[in-house]
Amino acid sequence: MSADCLFCKIAAKQITSRMVYEDDDVFAFEDIGPQAPTHILICPRKHIASLNEAAPEDQAILGKVQLVAAELARKFNLLSGYRTVLNTGPGAGQSVFHLHLHLLGGRSLHWPPG
Ligand code: AMP
Ligand code: ZN
Repeated sequence: MSADCLFCKIAAKQITSRMVYEDDDVFAFEDIGPQAPTHILICPRKHIASLNEAAPEDQAILGKVQLVAAELARKFNLLSGYRTVLNTGPGAGQSVFHLHLHLLGGRSLHWPPG
């Protein structure tokens, strides 16, 4: 855990969230500013600041967050179409530096995303 990290505090229940999934490796909760009817953030429990800081030993956890996204897409009835997004760096809009995969769905999603 990183002491001043918002998402580490959410994982530790020091900050409340609407948690939708938890296991030993991963936690997922509803985004506080949803950009779609379903907007969930899926995070490794391990504090990895961004994809830039991910290392070879993080290969399994990076795969797992994707598989949890697919499981949640089924659970939230998004199988007609959903998007997973991993913003990396301020230039891509990353504002919380604990790696998280956005799961967006429940409306039509356009491309390119902007
Ligand atoms: P990003 O901009 O890719 O780093 O995504 C950060 C996301 O975290 C944004 O979509 C925010 O709305 C969301 N967020 C920030 N604070 C909270 C919080 N306390 N609970 C839930 N989501 C949050
Ligand atoms: Zn963290």
